[in-house]
Amino acid sequence: MERFWNKVNRAAKGCWLWTATSNRLGYGQFKYRGRMMRAHIVAFELSNGPVPAGLELDHLCGNRACVNPAHLEPVSHAENCRRAKAKRTTCRNGHPYTAETLIINNKGARCCRICRNKYSRERQWKEHPHHRPLRGAINPNAKLTEAQVVEIRRGTMTGVEAAKHFGVCKNMISLIRTGQAWGHLLGVSSKSQGRRSSF
Ligand SMILES: [Zn+2]
Ligand SMILES: [Zn+2]
Repeated sequence: MERFWNKVNRAAKGCWLWTATSNRLGYGQFKYRGRMMRAHIVAFELSNGPVPAGLELDHLCGNRACVNPAHLEPVSHAENCRRAKAKRTTCRNGHPYTAETLIINNKGARCCRICRNKYSRERQWKEHPHHRPLRGAINPNAKLTEAQVVEIRRGTMTGVEAAKHFGVCKNMISLIRTGQAWGHLLGVSSKSQGRRSSF
């Protein structure tokens, strides 16, 4: 199969790079026995015979353009996926795995701390929508208007009365009165609103 190996750059030690057309995923393409195939699969077959049924070729070097048969190992789909995950350097949302962001969960899977914190914040907001840090009436979950907040702060009602009157929980009334919620109306920056505003 000279026609095949002519398209391979073996000059570099290690990876043998495919020099002809590649597909969108970066795998070399080659028409073999009338079928368009991935070049690394052709390289493997030319050297070792057909890929064993049910198995996929894993690029041990991680270079999809490489067709060096010594860099290809037939593995099961599950194993291939497991290896691909282990090789990933970012979470599925693109946050790089670093000592700070990488968490290994109790199943041994790698998780991202940034995403996990975001999910747990969102869960909290679902349960306590009024704790959302979006400001005041812009917050779609806000039940109060700015005028009502001013009225609550005037303090003519007890917390329980005000909660009942405005249809929010008692907690919210005290958050408003201490400036932990709707602090921007008092000129309190969200940073100095304390721990609650951090979720
Ligand atoms: Zn390689
Ligand atoms: Zn993430």
